[in-house]
Amino acid sequence: MQFTQKSKEHIDACRFCWMCHHVCPIGNATGLERNTARARALGLSMVARDSVEYSEDIIGNVYECSLCGGCMTDCVTGWDPVMFTKEARLGAALDGKLPEYVTTMISNLQEKGNIYGAEKNANIPEIAEGDILFFLGEDVRAKGCAKNAVELLKKAGVSFSILKDEPNSGYSMDFLLGAAAETKAVMENCAKVLSNYKKVVCYDPADAKVMKREYKEWGIDLKAEVVTFTEFVAGLIKDGKLNVKNSGIEFTPQDSPLLARDLEETEPVREILSACGSIREMLLNRNYTMLAGNLIMNEYMPQVMETVAANRWTNAKNVDAKVLVTTSPAEYILLAATKPEDMELMTIEEAVLKCL
Ligand code: SF4
Ligand code: SF4
Repeated sequence: MQFTQKSKEHIDACRFCWMCHHVCPIGNATGLERNTARARALGLSMVARDSVEYSEDIIGNVYECSLCGGCMTDCVTGWDPVMFTKEARLGAALDGKLPEYVTTMISNLQEKGNIYGAEKNANIPEIAEGDILFFLGEDVRAKGCAKNAVELLKKAGVSFSILKDEPNSGYSMDFLLGAAAETKAVMENCAKVLSNYKKVVCYDPADAKVMKREYKEWGIDLKAEVVTFTEFVAGLIKDGKLNVKNSGIEFTPQDSPLLARDLEETEPVREILSACGSIREMLLNRNYTMLAGNLIMNEYMPQVMETVAANRWTNAKNVDAKVLVTTSPAEYILLAATKPEDMELMTIEEAVLKCL
């Protein structure tokens, strides 16, 4: 396994440092030192020096990171474990050493268009009404429901399309393989389809993240403007297309790390919720948020994902929150599975619909 010089420097900087261990949602869930940026770096530093083989165990550890960026945000010296972890995944692929659960997900994507191997979701409508594409994403198409989001856009009088055969954005391939040629091919195919539209509204922050960041970084030409669903809905409220009334409900936003850290978008969700009621913040909010779950990892470490979501409920409880509001379908699905009886969970569109 060959690392770039840049990754080697970041690995060496992290390997004896423990300063960010407390912000890792996976380490907090497992209680294991191996699930810290430092421990991952220590293993990889030995691989980089050819002192140990790039073994199944070290590769397994590389896939135990959610790439949530909590460590990177907390790091006062600016080192980036996400960057070297993604490079280590690409290295495992190039060395032909991918874990079986990864190769299964990639085959699923090639055969069914999603890593879960799910058949077509009957809950997803097909609409062809305009030059705004409402991009639902792999997680919703395989495991979720977009009914309320569609209802909200219709109530605002937005003309939009939803594709029957929506292409995969490449987010999951980027998560599993990093910057591989296969990832780029999936992204290029998606960009070609999206370029038929003027604007793409991404329901899932994961798709917005790759379209706005990775496509650009890899020189993938995407003509359409990409906006997040939260940004779009906040705009509809501002423009008077959605007349929300203050319901008096106190909402607590669960900031998606993809929105808050990768896309640096933290305020639209707060603008929406302030119009619908008031906000009670969690202690770890905005770009210091804590991940509440990742559906890709749920395929190979479901018990850890259950604890990650349950821990976030504990964070919410600790500030006496009553209604948690999500902007990520993956987090919604995993939080719903662990919801305490005395608390409520809503998607952002459910919160708005309640206040119309
Ligand atoms: S990311 Fe920063 S704080 Fe975390 S282990 Fe590396 S050097 Fe330490
Ligand atoms: S990216 Fe997230 S999951 Fe990975 S080591 Fe950093 S804090 Fe932990």
